[in-house]
Amino acid sequence: MKTGRWILGGARVALGAAESARFDLAVEAGRIASLETARDGARLDLGGSLILPGLINAHDHLQYSLYPRLGRGPYPDAESWARAIYRPAEPPISEQRRIPISTRLRWGAVRNLLGGCTTVAHHDPYRRTFTRDFPLRVPKLGWAHSLEFTDSVGREYRRTPRRRPFVIHFAEAAAPRESDRLERLAREGALSDRTVLVHGVALTAEDLALAAARRASLVWCPSSNHFILGASLGRAALSSGLRIALGTDSALSGAADLLEEIRTAARAPVSPERLYAMVTRDAAAILRLPKGAGSIVQGGPADLVVVPDRGGTPAEELLELDA
Ligand SMILES: [Zn+2]
Repeated sequence: MKTGRWILGGARVALGAAESARFDLAVEAGRIASLETARDGARLDLGGSLILPGLINAHDHLQYSLYPRLGRGPYPDAESWARAIYRPAEPPISEQRRIPISTRLRWGAVRNLLGGCTTVAHHDPYRRTFTRDFPLRVPKLGWAHSLEFTDSVGREYRRTPRRRPFVIHFAEAAAPRESDRLERLAREGALSDRTVLVHGVALTAEDLALAAARRASLVWCPSSNHFILGASLGRAALSSGLRIALGTDSALSGAADLLEEIRTAARAPVSPERLYAMVTRDAAAILRLPKGAGSIVQGGPADLVVVPDRGGTPAEELLELDA
């Protein structure tokens, strides 16, 4: 809704994981214009609905969204998995590569929108197509693939503007390895409160303490971790005090959508309230998104998900959702 003023009326509006209220929401030029009862504007009656903030998928590779899962794990680490599945001359990789990347990226957008996501952290080169009526917000990030596949992580970190996070696949292995020690990142000058470690399954207690001391963050992709490694973050990581966001990872290994990922993560166990934060407020903070992202606030983006209202808290309702 980029033009005109719309009143989304009659719905319950999520104001936090456990907080909601019933009021009319005025939306104008893609932003929340007002949280008070509004009268002027085209009215859309959403009685019986709950309005949630658009969800944030903190890790995906949008161009792989048409793939089935590939591989027969578990593997000891992501590199072993990547070597096992990489058959570029054979289907499905040979077939998929014939489809223009802009089309494959749009399929990634559709897959995420159907799962309630309006913002996705895309862990690959930023494409011009993201600026051309792309139906998702794809924030610009500093990123490196991983220590293994990057010449100089320190250089990539230093190239990242200070207002952006620096995101890297890290410790995607079933058990700790010397090559995954977080000191390596610290030595490269790439470990700070802007550093976002994707996966982190093989981080040791010492690494987790170092990450917490530097106020780095984690992105957790439990479905992908279980598929590739047969393991994911345990209690030590989940209770380390690190800020954590949830991501699907690519369709090659991950969940069908973020809603499935939320249900998978809940079994860790993690409370509905914390999961809600992982796909809204905490994800917005980790990805350094503009003010108001991940919540419904006046002046914030009107990135909204409208779902049937079954009467639970916003966090409980989110856990019940199925695309
Ligand atoms: Zn990834």
